[in-house]
Amino acid sequence: MAILSPLLHLFYPHICTGCGSDLVNENNLLCLQCISDLPHTNFAMHANNPVEKSFWGRLAITAAMSEFYFTKGTLIQTLIHEFKYKGNKDVGLYLGAIMGNSLLSSNRFTKIDALIPLPLFADKEFKRGFNQATILCNGISEVMNIPVINNNVIRTRFTETQTKKHRTERWKNVEGSFEIKNPKEITGKHILLVDDVVTTGATLEACGAEMLKVEGSQLSIATLAFAAR
Ligand SMILES: [Zn+2]
Repeated sequence: MAILSPLLHLFYPHICTGCGSDLVNENNLLCLQCISDLPHTNFAMHANNPVEKSFWGRLAITAAMSEFYFTKGTLIQTLIHEFKYKGNKDVGLYLGAIMGNSLLSSNRFTKIDALIPLPLFADKEFKRGFNQATILCNGISEVMNIPVINNNVIRTRFTETQTKKHRTERWKNVEGSFEIKNPKEITGKHILLVDDVVTTGATLEACGAEMLKVEGSQLSIATLAFAAR
């Protein structure tokens, strides 16, 4: 288990965000019990891990990892809820930093040039006030010292005429379409595409496919949690 205390220079509350216990080190957000309860996957260390396999035949990625198993009614769901729906960005930065530590301790993610958060639809991001994937990127970036590229990949909904096209194409509408505004910024780079929870991987696939069209680009994927299908 990595040492979690000096991850980020934030002022955390003196109760555990996971369980409410007051047995919390002042530099941490979780108590020792919650830290040891976190369901790490260790996917970062292993080639052909389940999240990597889920992209086989769909997307030519270099490597993929998810930090935690997503299971309902557990600590990781509490933390994701606190972060995504209650807007506690410190939790997101903290979880991102944990991802960064795992990526750093693996030799499979050593050549990443930049981090890109999976974009939300603009109206959804406006409503929430932030993109959770961007916060995760910021946490990873602080640990790995790799820049975050924001506002280059854009996500838009298909127009109505496009959605009427074809029944088999309808699933694509749910994910929308992705557009790279400034391909030069990622030309020849190895990008780590970051998202919160991977389930079917359809959105990451749609976004990643667009990114791989850019000349010389290489793609790896990191998500906070992995939900088995
Ligand atoms: Zn706790």
